[in-house]
Amino acid sequence: MKDYRIALLPGDGIGPECMSATRTVLDRIIAETPGLNLQMTSHRAGAELYRDTGETLPDEVLADCVASDAVLLSAIGLPDVRYPDGTEVQPTMMVGLRRALDVHSAVRPVKLYPGAPCVLRDTGPGIDFVIIRENLEGLFASFGGGAKVGNEVATDTLVVTRRGTSRVADFAFRLAQRRNGRPSDGKKMVTCVDKANVFRSLAFFREVFFDVAKKHPDISSDAVYVDAMSLYLVQNPWDFDVLVMENQFGDILSDLGAGLVGGLGLGPSGEIGDEHGLFQPSHGTAPQLAGKNVANPMATMLSAAMMLDWLGDQHNDPVAIDAAARLEMAVAKVLEDASVRTRDIGGTSSTSDVADAVADAIGCTK
Ligand code: ATP
Ligand code: MG
Repeated sequence: MKDYRIALLPGDGIGPECMSATRTVLDRIIAETPGLNLQMTSHRAGAELYRDTGETLPDEVLADCVASDAVLLSAIGLPDVRYPDGTEVQPTMMVGLRRALDVHSAVRPVKLYPGAPCVLRDTGPGIDFVIIRENLEGLFASFGGGAKVGNEVATDTLVVTRRGTSRVADFAFRLAQRRNGRPSDGKKMVTCVDKANVFRSLAFFREVFFDVAKKHPDISSDAVYVDAMSLYLVQNPWDFDVLVMENQFGDILSDLGAGLVGGLGLGPSGEIGDEHGLFQPSHGTAPQLAGKNVANPMATMLSAAMMLDWLGDQHNDPVAIDAAARLEMAVAKVLEDASVRTRDIGGTSSTSDVADAVADAIGCTK
């Protein structure tokens, strides 16, 4: 039996409320699952900590994140807390944490659960695809150093390396192997999303992608330009399974994906490397909702489910994989039932009501 060490970073704004609701459901799943042990340690980090102490991510907190089996983060950053040069603390802290953990692939599942509000009139055979975003380079590579700012011209640099692209592409194919394929016909498929017709760097991304695809002949591969993909994801999202793309394209299409399936309050994410996993909701700190017990904690709960699934996969632990599936099912059950839901998805319930409802639903998923 494995004891997992988990670092929890509740963060700022609605982060601590979403984390506390998620702890309620994690405590329940641990209580109901013989053989699942999580040693969770909570740390302060982020904008409020910076305001109080001048530090966003103290060395000992970073060290515990690196030493842990996984990190679960809620949301970080407050728009009015800035470094002396005027920049927000969140991007710098997150880029530092990502680089320290070497989490090269960001995973954003876009899944329409029954009962979740959807902007599409026709949802066809269902929506269930995953965006894999290269997480350490691309147009974000010059962040914190490589950008040039003059009086008349400012430039950023888009960096695509063979190593960075190979590992994110390989990650995408391995994930496709574990999934059920695209909703329209069950075909397992990885689609490279790029702009290879315009940018040399992205033509290289595509070339490396197809080199990796040759090592996974049992999974179909394809490439689509990012502008066309924005259209397809709104018109026929059920034709996609796993999408892999450069950092900035992934940032944008992930929000489009979240919008398709009920909004930011339902969107989980994971950032995964060869050794580390960092999991967090795709929303930010929504400061205007903070402290009111109204935020939707489901994205954080679904991120915790992704964390359990990843831990189970990494450690060959069917107990953790099963617990992940039951946690996801419990969230889905509460969504489908519709009697307990937060305002962002059309209800009037509080964050803690959702925590209690999901915890109760866990009891029914054994
Ligand atoms: P960031 O720059 O950190 O990504 P953002 O400006 O994109 O932040 P978010 O904090 O992600 O903004 O949220 C945008 C809006 O979406 C919020 O103001 C809020 O209305 C809504 N929202 C986001 N997350 C939630 C949630 N968990 N529950 C309810 N509403 C949410
Ligand atoms: Mg945002």
